[in-house]
Amino acid sequence: MILSFPGGVKPQERTRLGKSNTEIIRTCSAICLAAEGDAVALIAAGTPVLRATLLGESGGMPVYSSIAGDFRGIMELEGRNYFVVTSNGSEGEEQTRFPEQRAITELTSGDIAESARRFAVYEPRYSLPLFKLIEEASGKCRRIVIDCTETDPLSAINYRLCIEHAHELVGGAKLLLRATGALKCVFAAEHYRKNAFASILKYETDEKLFAIAELEEKYPYGDRAIMESLYLKTLAQNERPTDHGVLVISPEAAIALYTSMRDGVPTLDRYISVCGNGVNKQRNLRVPRGITIHDIKELCGGLESDASLIENSLLCGKRASGALSDATRALIAAKKENRIASECTSCGLCAEVCPMRLLPLDILSEDKLAWTKSCISCGACEYICPSAIPLLRLIDRKRGKTED
Ligand code: SF4
Ligand code: SF4
Repeated sequence: MILSFPGGVKPQERTRLGKSNTEIIRTCSAICLAAEGDAVALIAAGTPVLRATLLGESGGMPVYSSIAGDFRGIMELEGRNYFVVTSNGSEGEEQTRFPEQRAITELTSGDIAESARRFAVYEPRYSLPLFKLIEEASGKCRRIVIDCTETDPLSAINYRLCIEHAHELVGGAKLLLRATGALKCVFAAEHYRKNAFASILKYETDEKLFAIAELEEKYPYGDRAIMESLYLKTLAQNERPTDHGVLVISPEAAIALYTSMRDGVPTLDRYISVCGNGVNKQRNLRVPRGITIHDIKELCGGLESDASLIENSLLCGKRASGALSDATRALIAAKKENRIASECTSCGLCAEVCPMRLLPLDILSEDKLAWTKSCISCGACEYICPSAIPLLRLIDRKRGKTED
């Protein structure tokens, strides 16, 4: 059975990256790793470093260099603080290894959370350290969902992770079941990703513990759509799946948890698709964490002159700049569209695609200001509008007025 959620946009074009293996990039000109307010450097600026050298601590986690080069210190760039390392061109890596020796049945929830912290495993869905999510979900969640849907139909990175790292994905799922005490793990992906399901089922067939969920091919997916599709639960404002006993995790985080504990090395790399009609070479990439957007453009042969890179989704993503954010799983090179907005034809499409069951155009009338609070900024209404009315931008402007 194909599961679905209310509203959403069906893609006009499918990805061409499904068959492209993930290419491993070990070095880049520089990395910028986000530093929280409590960040401290543990080595001096100017110190030579290797991949996996400990640079400092931030947000309760260790921060490791993801390239070999020279540590430049904690620096402010575009209004944010970053641990900055510039490359020396080598791919040298620290050889220190602390693999987990114990069997999974000997590990407690605290042991697994501590490994996730020590090995700096991040969850890109929420841009949060995984250990914090494990602590929140432990003893509270009965289900784990590994959300293998893409953030945009042009991306294929989650599909490639399922194909290339199914064994590690299943291993990560088992660790998460152990860590949280959840009873079952569901792998969810677009229904046409048959090879991803087959790949996972090669490694795990215990139907009591694992299940597959085939989802309709439409977007945006995210916590709300996953909960509605799988459990017919509507998340209230500010609610998260954990409030309903479900921990939703990305395949990237599950794989990183397993591989870091198995190999005893920190999580140094990120997985992304660089896709869309405005990039010269579309690629699935494994890149050093904190790589600059400039380097990513170079790796893909540059962009068309009128294109820019959008983070995660063409529906609602922001333009990428600076360094690859921990929350970004796809970069879509979109050419600038010169659509001229025209009169609303009352076609009703914007209301049809709204996952919040709102009437997007009505939101803009003065007496409906309160409705803007329910809008989740998914961008489906603006994407579908045949009159090219910039609905999301208008809603955001209205919201700005409301908050004033
Ligand atoms: S009104 Fe808001 S929630 Fe509804 S489709 Fe538009 S952006 Fe999405
Ligand atoms: S989709 Fe555009 S044209 Fe159609 S009702 Fe909504 S705002 Fe009007």
